[in-house]
Amino acid sequence: MHAARLMAYDCAWKLDQGRDVRNEISMLKVFAIESASELVDHAMQAFGAMGMTREMPLSLMAGRLRTMRIYDGPSEVHRMVVARNLLGVR
Ligand SMILES: Cc1cc2nc3c(=O)[nH]c(=O)nc-3n(C[C@H](O)[C@H](O)[C@H](O)COP(=O)(O)OP(=O)(O)OC[C@H]3O[C@@H](n4cnc5c(N)ncnc54)[C@H](O)[C@@H]3O)c2cc1C
Repeated sequence: MHAARLMAYDCAWKLDQGRDVRNEISMLKVFAIESASELVDHAMQAFGAMGMTREMPLSLMAGRLRTMRIYDGPSEVHRMVVARNLLGVR
């Protein structure tokens, strides 16, 4: 969470300066959502059956995070954007 927050602050700071942050935003989106998904998955595993119930918000979070890996550009496409920028390929 700390790393994702720092990445978001970095993007916001660069945006304020009028810089092009599309590459950083792609990195942030993949990193934040995939880290959060992994975290929620571990939490569900730790809570066992309890983690699947509606008494806990975990399955709701997992569903929302799964959707976030698709909209606003799926992770695969953001990874491709970052790779193209790193390699200097258009
Ligand atoms: C809840 C929700 C809200 C949305 N809100 C909006 C909105 O407000 N405005 C809007 O414009 N759109 C919105 N969308 C659409 C969303 O942005 C698209 O669904 C998303 O970009 C994926 O496009 P697609 O569905 O055509 O899937 P596709 O592009 O067909 O992707 C399907 C799969 O193929 C993979 N894939 C695609 N291209 C490549 C590639 N070149 N290399 C490797 N893998 C690839 C993807 O990663 C994905 O896993 C929303 C979608 C959802 C689910």
